[in-house]
Parts: sequence; C-alpha cells; structure tokens
Amino acid sequence: MHELSVTESILEISLRHANQANAKRITNLYLVIGQLASIVDDSVQFYWDIVSKGTIADGATLHFRRIPATLLCIDCNNQYKPGEDGFTCPNCRSDHIKVVSGEEFYMEAIDVEP
Ligand SMILES: [Zn+2]
Repeated sequence: MHELSVTESILEISLRHANQANAKRITNLYLVIGQLASIVDDSVQFYWDIVSKGTIADGATLHFRRIPATLLCIDCNNQYKPGEDGFTCPNCRSDHIKVVSGEEFYMEAIDVEP
C-alpha cells in the first residue's frame, strides 16, 4: 500500500526532528496534502496508529490540510481549477495543461514536548 510507505517516512522524519530537539514526545503533526495527491487521510491515520506504536510519537494527533488543485493552460495561459470538464481548459478546450498546485505532500510542522 502506497500510504503505508508514506506514513513510515512521515514517522521517520518526525522522529529525526524530535531527536534533534531532544524531545521526549511528539504530540501533533501537521501534514499538507494536495487535492491531486493520491493519498487518503483515513489510510494515513490508520497506518500511523500502527507504525507509531511504541515510539515517542505514539498517540500523536495528525492534522491534514488540503490544497486545492490549480491548473495552467499552456496554450492560452488561463489558470483555473479542474471542474466539470475535468482537466480540459474551460477557456480554449485545450488539454495541453500543467499542474500548478495540488500534487504536494509534505509535513508542515510538528509539535513536541521536551
Ligand atoms: Zn486554454
């Protein structure tokens, strides 16, 4: 499963940060997920409870922030959100497009206790 490896890397990164800060416990994790990133919040939460067990991140709360998708039409330079037409440019009907935002996935912040 995709989300399992993603969740494991979140844990690894947060443990490294906590270690550097000499923290005893990780309490909150703030994650950013783009609308187009194929990651399901619930799955991450599910795997998180499993992989964090027995670590200093056990019981930490995950917070998710979704970033809406923004597309750019290469042909007419129109910037828009995917809608009823899917990814097709609503202005000139071109499929020659670029994703500006919505594919991101990263950890924004982490709360620790000393
Ligand atoms: Zn266009």
